[in-house]
Amino acid sequence: MPTPHEALHTTFGYSDFRGRQAEVIDRVMAGAHTLAVMPTGAGKSLTYQIPALCRPGTGLVISPLIALMHDQVRSATAVGIRAAALTSADDNRDETLARFRAGELDLLYAAPERASTEGFRRLIDRVPLALIAIDEAHCVSEWGHDFRPDYRLLRGLVEAHPEIPRLALTATADRHTRADILAQLDIPDEGLILAGFDRPNIRYAISPRDGLPQQLKALVRDNPGPGIVYATSRDATERLAATLAEAGRPTRAYHAGLDPAVRARNQQAFVASEDMVMCATIAFGMGIDKPDVRFVAHAGLPKSIEAYYQETGRAGRDGDPAVAHLFWGADDFSRARRRIADEVGADRQEGERQRLNALGGLVETAGCRRAVLLRHFGEEPAERCGNCDNCLAPPASIDATEAARKLLSAAFRTEMRFGITHLADVLAGKVSDKIRQFGHDRLSVFGIADAAELKLIKPVARALLARDALRADEFGGLSFGPAARGILKGEVPVAIVKPPPARERKRGSDEE
Ligand code: ADP
Ligand code: ZN
Repeated sequence: MPTPHEALHTTFGYSDFRGRQAEVIDRVMAGAHTLAVMPTGAGKSLTYQIPALCRPGTGLVISPLIALMHDQVRSATAVGIRAAALTSADDNRDETLARFRAGELDLLYAAPERASTEGFRRLIDRVPLALIAIDEAHCVSEWGHDFRPDYRLLRGLVEAHPEIPRLALTATADRHTRADILAQLDIPDEGLILAGFDRPNIRYAISPRDGLPQQLKALVRDNPGPGIVYATSRDATERLAATLAEAGRPTRAYHAGLDPAVRARNQQAFVASEDMVMCATIAFGMGIDKPDVRFVAHAGLPKSIEAYYQETGRAGRDGDPAVAHLFWGADDFSRARRRIADEVGADRQEGERQRLNALGGLVETAGCRRAVLLRHFGEEPAERCGNCDNCLAPPASIDATEAARKLLSAAFRTEMRFGITHLADVLAGKVSDKIRQFGHDRLSVFGIADAAELKLIKPVARALLARDALRADEFGGLSFGPAARGILKGEVPVAIVKPPPARERKRGSDEE
């Protein structure tokens, strides 16, 4: 059996371990349980592949997606590792099991529900395992952004075999999620190995949507290499692909509604291309090995900071400069809050709200984006990174407390059911039919905003929605969130990034 260094040289052809790989591998070799949190591209696969080669027995790898398993089997086989997957999509399951029993496999990939069956557990009583690797381990936690109930079944497996070293791996886990993974998989606190989250070559930028097609075209023009644009719906991926083709670049769409053959073809074309723009839903990217992605754009709000970090992490894995640009609108927050209220179980709502508020903090900050991101993951970064939009061109921030209080009062006086346009009209003192019909011209807030304040109403509404001082119903009607009271009472100031001068654009063009 080779030593880890020998395996690194002979099997993989690498000269040194990177980052904290050696530490993780040392623990597994010593039989200890470990949770390794390492950013995408840090080389997590190696940390279980090498112990699988260097310890007696097969390495069992738990993975959430069949496509991911097949990718891993392919790349392991390519370097001469004996690997196989045991999934519903593999017809050679009997053969795989026979090889496993005969000790002829270095790595066996399986989904959590399969690995936790009674039958499989009995099998493990007889066939020695080198380790149990749990990939995408954040799936075990309800705090993680991708909770999979099946991962909870692993509990039985780890309890039945406490002697087999466990290695949980993830690229994204905040403090809560990490604690949860340790508890769920019974890994001691000192087993946590947390590699740095910083991706210094990625330049982060975040802007409100303001004519999205133009904004994206400009981004594509400024960044000649391959890029990914994440859209929020299947239709939007196809519309954006058509729009961005006008910028003179090859584009493709990718979403779960496409024929699998088309999807595979588009993915292959992207991986092979040096200038393609892929317009995709978040279904795209997991397990795709393309180190030279030069930009990742979001046409709408991602689900959480973790999801944002993982999605933007697909840019610049080769270490060369890359750009991550997020375009957001207030309606993104409204929609997300409604989704939480309507679709999320009562016990998880508070957590989801906190995650959304954290995202609000990231998009609203006038400070360093990287610092907000890294602090979210528990690091203590420098105040300024020098490589994000706010560091490169510090935005002037202005005090918008008065405008915010007037907007909140207007929402309150009109019984919290009108949208931003109407509220702005009320504050402006506009006499429209609708205003007369509701008698809003007789309210104390009618016409109380001056011209400067009126200009701030939209960005202020966006800021208040992002920090949960305002909530929008499905028709855009605005009501108070928990953060409204402090602002209204004058206890909490509202500073916003100074909006850029208004410019001409087609109406409705920022709806993607
Ligand atoms: P992750 O799963 O953490 O995103 P991967 O395991 O896919 O990362 O590894 C990313 C890339 O880095 C792969 O191409 C891998 O072969 C390479 N890599 C991993 N470890 C090393 C190393 N010690 N030296 C050089 N390249 C490495
Ligand atoms: Zn910065």
